[in-house]
Amino acid sequence: MPIELSDRVKAVPPSGIRRFFEIAEERDEVISLGVGEPDFSTPWAARDAAIASLEQGKTSYTANRGRRDLREAIADYVDDRFGLGYDPDEEIIVTAGASEAVDVAFRALVDPGDTVAIAQPSYISYEPGVIFAGGEVLRVPTREEDEFRLTVEGLEEAGAADADLLVICYPNNPTGAIMREEDLEPVAEFAREHDLTVLSDEIYAELTYDVDESNSGTGKTSSSGGGHTSIATLPGMRERTVVFNGFSKAHAMTGLRLGYALAPADVVGAMNRIHQYTMLSAPTTAQYAALEALESCDDEVREMVDQYDRRRRFVLSRFREIGMDVFEAKGAFYCFPEVPAGFTSEEFAEGVLREQGVAVVPGDVFGDGGEGHLRVSYATGLDELREALTRIEAFVEEHA
Ligand code: PMP
Repeated sequence: MPIELSDRVKAVPPSGIRRFFEIAEERDEVISLGVGEPDFSTPWAARDAAIASLEQGKTSYTANRGRRDLREAIADYVDDRFGLGYDPDEEIIVTAGASEAVDVAFRALVDPGDTVAIAQPSYISYEPGVIFAGGEVLRVPTREEDEFRLTVEGLEEAGAADADLLVICYPNNPTGAIMREEDLEPVAEFAREHDLTVLSDEIYAELTYDVDESNSGTGKTSSSGGGHTSIATLPGMRERTVVFNGFSKAHAMTGLRLGYALAPADVVGAMNRIHQYTMLSAPTTAQYAALEALESCDDEVREMVDQYDRRRRFVLSRFREIGMDVFEAKGAFYCFPEVPAGFTSEEFAEGVLREQGVAVVPGDVFGDGGEGHLRVSYATGLDELREALTRIEAFVEEHA
């Protein structure tokens, strides 16, 4: 007799992206614009700090919530960059990637039957996280006409007024959308009015491009970076928001597995109660790397953001040349072009992979609002992007 699996696990289908990796493996010379991680290596100073910590034998567990010096550095960083004030002792928890923070937050806040509204298209881990925690998912589609920003009309139409939690992610994976302060204000008002707890995944906060000066929570601005506003900075929101961030994206540290959550003390305390039994502490070596990343790697982060911006401009202009509509993504490292008429997302993605060896992700895997689009990651060098777009053009010319 096979071992009986839990209903919760059975309720979650395997990731829709996997099939594409299988096709990609069958072909030679596939250019992948499918991955959601930086092509850069972790800045050297951070790697050196990790190496030094190992050489010094610093290989024990840390405090459950993470090293105090790292929590202090995170508190200074989020204050300086985004105007977010959090107490390193009570209101910050360091986790094994933002992924763990998201999972633990769901388990700390969701009771069986609670409804979690998720602005979509969205990162693929939120729905499974809600289901594993015993909650019900409510999909709240965003639309290209609104540049994939969440609107109050969208929330109302989906029935989110009756939800318990709301998950948002800006800058967004997969669309590359951002929300400026004036876009977040009505959403914040809706959350206050309907007593929603907001889970705000801000892992791409450093990666914004071409955002006007008014958007920065701290008043800082530049052509790239510095254009993120956290919903937790809006009036009455800090007490009802959990912010997620981490080192995977801006600091190119995906494999080191380090993230964190910022929230009121009772929420962080509840998250820590789960984390202390299930994880004990986030990876120690990565905590040393992260501390150094915050202390001395700003220039490297700026350089990576500038390069992403250059690639973003190139990719957007090439899609337009090819005749594929694409909205002006201003964050993360994704753009979200429309597939030409006559194709579903999946048909296009599968065709361009089989015939041209370019891997992109069909938009439908990201939930409501994703069908008809492709997620194209530009966390890939310009030469590869150039070749990939030439191949996509050939596919479109042949079929569309
Ligand atoms: N949130 C979003 C929106 C992401 O895109 C990702 C990574 N793809 C994560 C969270 C997870 O990041 P981490 O590596 O910190 O677990």
